[in-house]
Amino acid sequence: MRPRPPAAAPNPGRERLLEEITRSGVSDAAVLAAMAKVPRDFFLDDALKNRAYENNALPIGHAQTISQPAIVAFMSQALTQGRKLARVLEIGTGSGYQTAVLAELVDTVFTVERIKALSEQARQRLSALGYRNVHFGYADGMKGWLPYAPYDGILVTAGAENVPQALLDQLGPNGRLVIPVGPQGRQSLRLIERRGGILREQDLGWVSFVPLLAGKV
Ligand code: SAH
Repeated sequence: MRPRPPAAAPNPGRERLLEEITRSGVSDAAVLAAMAKVPRDFFLDDALKNRAYENNALPIGHAQTISQPAIVAFMSQALTQGRKLARVLEIGTGSGYQTAVLAELVDTVFTVERIKALSEQARQRLSALGYRNVHFGYADGMKGWLPYAPYDGILVTAGAENVPQALLDQLGPNGRLVIPVGPQGRQSLRLIERRGGILREQDLGWVSFVPLLAGKV
């Protein structure tokens, strides 16, 4: 069933942001349509809603951030590459914003978060927006989400010191993993593709994410 978020009111900030996302190198029509449709202000506290359509990461509490919109778009494009993937795992639900963008682009999203309060809040938000194709897990995503594996795509929205082996193991035959790898604050974004028994890795440039941490809180 197609999710139906409420129609967005005209908003010049939103249009400017879409232009900025396009200029940053995102050209995939489905990704741009998803970015135009998902209301980012809905994923922020009242005090920050007026900054929702700036191209910045912003605080969401619990020392975490909602990702920068251009990065959300870029990672979604790298993951889907113009195809409608069936099953995608997201590690780091956070606000649920990237989750909603994925829910527009793929058949089913499985999203895992280690902070219970964030997971619950994101679940409520996506439900309020009408998404019915998302499964929420409260778990340590470094271990992936084994019960629903394998996945056609895995998107990690926190910086990993190393690529967790569990995520490679849970990638399907032609699966793609998009993951920031490196120390806190500066990671290289990697695209890892499984082709039969072979893993091909590409560096997509520098990004800055909060760290991927072990365990649940
Ligand atoms: N895509 C989110 C980004 C949130 S920031 C958004 O746009 O809102 C990264 C998130 O990853 C945080 O919520 C953090 O708690 C979560 N995280 C960090 N390590 C994790 C792990 N091992 N398993 C699951 N979630 C993790």
